[in-house]
Amino acid sequence: MSTGKLIVITGPSGVGKGTIVRSLLASHSQLSLSISATTRKPRSGEIDGRDYYFVDRQKFEAMIDNDRLLEWAEYAGNYYGTPKDKVEETINLGKWILLEIELVGARAIKQIFPSSLRLFILPPSLTELERRLRSRGKDSEEVIIRRLARAKEEIAASQEFTHCITNDNLGKTIQEIEKLIFDCNI
Ligand code: ADP
Ligand code: 5GP
Repeated sequence: MSTGKLIVITGPSGVGKGTIVRSLLASHSQLSLSISATTRKPRSGEIDGRDYYFVDRQKFEAMIDNDRLLEWAEYAGNYYGTPKDKVEETINLGKWILLEIELVGARAIKQIFPSSLRLFILPPSLTELERRLRSRGKDSEEVIIRRLARAKEEIAASQEFTHCITNDNLGKTIQEIEKLIFDCNI
């Protein structure tokens, strides 16, 4: 049986992870995405079961207690976690799965799946990151400030990842990631 690939995409909020992941999924049918559970409230346009499983804290804590999460973390006041079932099932089928998760979760995945491909997406600058976060227009000022503070901590840890990619030109970033994913032999 062939072994599945686990690909982790991490980077500060607003750097373009969601945009990159949507593009990869649209072009490559062999890739699937792990849908995370979160206690964050849905943003406008987000759909339960497609973007996240939106749950309350009690339900999330029950998922932790029942060992249903591969990893989880608290980020900017909310819980986020990767349901175990789909990742294990996909890997066991020899298929490829993408996890779009933050730093604490990426560190946990490194321990569980040391051979995973772990990509860190960097912004061209902190000014551009802030511009992107604001131009997305989905977060309050308080949330933007928390995310920018966390961004600095995350960027400082970028060297822990197997590869760092600066998302300046989106098309080039996607090409670079495609090369890493499809050329790698994990
Ligand atoms: P994340 O998922 O990392 O929080 P998003 O994918 O939501 O980030 O992107 C944040 C904003 O930045 C969006 O408005 C998106 O269209 C924009 N964006 C993404 N990549 C680029 C890029 N290379 N250049 C300019 N804007 C970008
Ligand atoms: P957002 O609220 O912008 O959708 O996500 C906030 C942060 O949580 C992002 O860095 C995103 O990658 C991360 N995240 C999303 N799902 C998970 C998850 O299942 N586990 C962890 N650890 N982080 C996640």
